[in-house]
Formats: sequence, C-alpha cells, structure tokens
Amino acid sequence: MDRVPVPRDLKDFSRFFSDAGHRVYLVGGAVRDHFLGKRAGDWDVATDARPEQVMAIFPRVIPTGIEHGTVTIPFRGRAIECTTFRVESDYTDGRRPDSVRYEATIEEDLSRRDFTMNAIAVSLPDGAVIDPYGGRTDVKLRVIRAVGDPRTRFAEDGLRPLRAIRFSALPGFAIDTDTLSAIRPSLGVTERVAPERVREELVKLLSSPEPLTAFRYMEETGLMELILPELSACRGVEQKGRHRHDVLDHLLLTCSACPREVTELMLAGLLHDIGKPAVRATGDDGVITFHGHEIASAKIARSVMTRLKFPNRTIARVVHLVEQHMFHYESSWTDAAVRRFVVRVGVDEIEPLFALRAADSFAISGVRGEPHGIDELRRRISGILEARHAFSLGDLAVNGTDLAGIGITPGPTTGIVLRELLSAVLDDPELNDKDRLLDIALAFVRDRGLAN
Ligand code: ATP
Ligand code: MG
Repeated sequence: MDRVPVPRDLKDFSRFFSDAGHRVYLVGGAVRDHFLGKRAGDWDVATDARPEQVMAIFPRVIPTGIEHGTVTIPFRGRAIECTTFRVESDYTDGRRPDSVRYEATIEEDLSRRDFTMNAIAVSLPDGAVIDPYGGRTDVKLRVIRAVGDPRTRFAEDGLRPLRAIRFSALPGFAIDTDTLSAIRPSLGVTERVAPERVREELVKLLSSPEPLTAFRYMEETGLMELILPELSACRGVEQKGRHRHDVLDHLLLTCSACPREVTELMLAGLLHDIGKPAVRATGDDGVITFHGHEIASAKIARSVMTRLKFPNRTIARVVHLVEQHMFHYESSWTDAAVRRFVVRVGVDEIEPLFALRAADSFAISGVRGEPHGIDELRRRISGILEARHAFSLGDLAVNGTDLAGIGITPGPTTGIVLRELLSAVLDDPELNDKDRLLDIALAFVRDRGLAN
C-alpha cells in the first residue's frame, strides 16, 4: 500500500484518537494539495469517533457544525476541522441532507464526497493512502470528476456544480466531460441552494489562480445566467472606442488582473462596469456613450452582493470602489482638487482604487503596469498627507461646541456648517484656524439665513 509522509503535528494529533480506541484520517483539500505538490492549507480530518466522543478526548472543542457531525479542534496554533464518518441520506431539497447517519468506515465517508480528487484519505499516523475512486490519477491529469454518477450527485446537492467550476480555477484543471454536461440539467437544483453557500464558493473562486477559466465554464453551462444574471447581460454589449472587448469580457479580464488576495478588489473588478448595459446610448454622431455608468454599476453591485448575502462592510467597500473608479487625473489638477479626491476616496482606499485602475487599463490595452499619471498623483497625495492638513470634520480647528459658543444651536445646522468649513479648508488649508473658521461660520449662517 502507498504511503505518504505525515507531519509531526498530525502524528501527535492522531495519537489522541488512537489512545481512545478511534481511527482518524486526513481528508479533503489537504490530501489533494499534497498530491498537487502544494503546501496544504487547512487540515480536515475524518474519524469514527462521534462528536461527543471527540469532545471528551480534547479539552477544548468548538462545535462549528455539530448538526453535520463537524467540530473544530484547536491544536498547536491550528484549527483542525474534524468530521465523524457519515453517509448522508435523502436530499429532498438539493440544499442539505435531511439526516446524517454516522457510519463505521472511511470508504463510505469517501463515497459521499464530491470529486475524486477530494475523495482520497490518508490514514494517521501511518500515512497509508486510501483512494477508491482513482483520485490520485485525476489529480495528476488535473481532471475534476464527480464521485459516481454526476447527475445523481448534483441532484443531491446543487452546490456541487459550482464547486466543480470553482476548482477549475486551479492551474491546469479542466472538468471531465460527463461531469460538465451534468451541470446544465442540474441548474434547477442549484437554484435552491442557500445564497451564503454560493457566496462562499464564489469568494474561493475569486481567490484562485485562474478565475477566467471558471468564468468561461460558468457562462458555457448557464450557471452565470442563474447566479449572476446581471453579468450575463453584459455579453455582446459592444463598446467601440478604446475597447476591443464587449462589457462582459472586459469585466472578466479586469477581475482576473486584480490582486487575488483582496476579495473586494476582485469583486470591484468584476462589477465595476456592470451598469453599462442599462445606460448605453448612441448619440446622433453614432458615438456610443455610457454616461453615469459608475453610479448605475454601484447600484447593481449592491443588489448582487446583497442577494448573495455578503457582509455589509464588504458590500460598502466594493460599492465605493465601483462608484469612484471613473476619476481622470491630469497634472493640471490644483492641490485643492487633489485634496478633494483624497477626501472623496478615503486615504485607505486610494491604493486599492489605483490597483483597480491598473487592472481596468490592462484589460483595455493589454499593457501591464501603472497607467500614466497615477504615480504623479500618488506623489502629490503623499506630499499633501505629509503636510497634515485637515481631511475630515475631526481635523478642523473647531467643533460643535465651539459653534454653539457663537450661537449656532447644536443640531442639523452644526453638521452643515462643519461640512462647509471643511470644504473651505480643503480649498485653502491656511484657513484651519479657530478664529478664522468662526468668522467664516458666522458669515455662512448669516448669508444662508440659517437659524443662529
Ligand atoms: P479548499 O482547500 O479550497 O478549502 P477543500 O477541498 O478543502 O478545498 P472544502 O469546502 O473545505 O474544500 O471541503 C472539504 C472537503 O469536504 C472536500 O474536499 C470534499 O471532500 C468535501 N466536501 C465539501 N463540500 C462538499 C459537497 N458539497 N459535497 C460533497 N463533498 C463535499
Ligand atoms: Mg478546506
């Protein structure tokens, strides 16, 4: 029997199980990654010990998915996910198994896993490989193949088609023909999958090395139309001008040129022009325009991400980047214009916005590197930041209490006046002085007839 080397920590971990009379196996992505020659990410293990038995073995266990027999065990700085062998029966809704039966063998456990490359186990601590479905060969061939009949397996869980596509974003991987052709007939099942699960796979897809491959499969199988119809609507929307690609190809290329490690940027790349079909117009001169497309795109980005139950912070960040992506820097910008840009974009989002611009411009021109003018803008921004001028209401030399002192009643007027003062200070930083600001404030409320 083939054996693989087992890391020291895993051997020691497995001893806790054997001492209690149980078996434990390394399974899932870590085993697949080993045969891909990659360093494994997280460790997932499978055991015949039931969750309550695992909890008795280890002093501290987190019941992360106890209803599916999964607990997380903190061990030497890692979080090891531990699932009791199980066979799931009766998927009536294509979402989750109705019940989970615990079974005694690793082979049965492997039979419920999705793809052959994910259905290999390594026995601990000895390293013996259990590979009933030829997973190692498929890893070598870079083939994503369902365990058993793909139609049946996809009917059990509609997330699996998306998982197959997510794994195709690994370098060199392709989906086996039978498995691929089972995706379209299963879309009705996929439609009922919980949005959170779809989102999780989408995020993993975006952080994988070759998302473009996955997006091509998504379009070809109809999965894109199902989960991201707004994106499908960008197919065939021609742009002319500088653009060689239609809007969909432009979005996919921009996304795949963004830094993988920042999910929000990948999403902003994918969605930044998604409002273009809605605002496309042809002028009398025959020129195609997309006026206000960043606003339309931001709106659609928000609705797509809300539907997929992204966290609010992620949505806000992506929407902001989409909204701001249309800046046109020129050397003739005044310092006040640069300061306003900094305030509008926010100091922390300037570099991400530049990265989005670089990806956007690469998708148009095919030329890597930073577009013209960005570095000049960056240098001007850092000069301005070093000068430590006021960039937010909190940086002003006056506050609400000071305004109250000159008779401006605390309330909505206070905010209006402070924003006006910030605007003045952005134009001329020298004005950020208490006396001068109070003078401006008085003049402002008088001119506007605001309650004083
Ligand atoms: P990654 O390294 O990207 O996390 P992974 O293979 O570990 O990839 P997980 O989502 O963490 O993916 O799942 C762990 C394992 O659980 C998989 O390798 C697979 O064996 C099994 N699995 C996960 N989801 C399903 C599913 N929907 N149907 C069947 N088996 C699944
Ligand atoms: Mg995993």
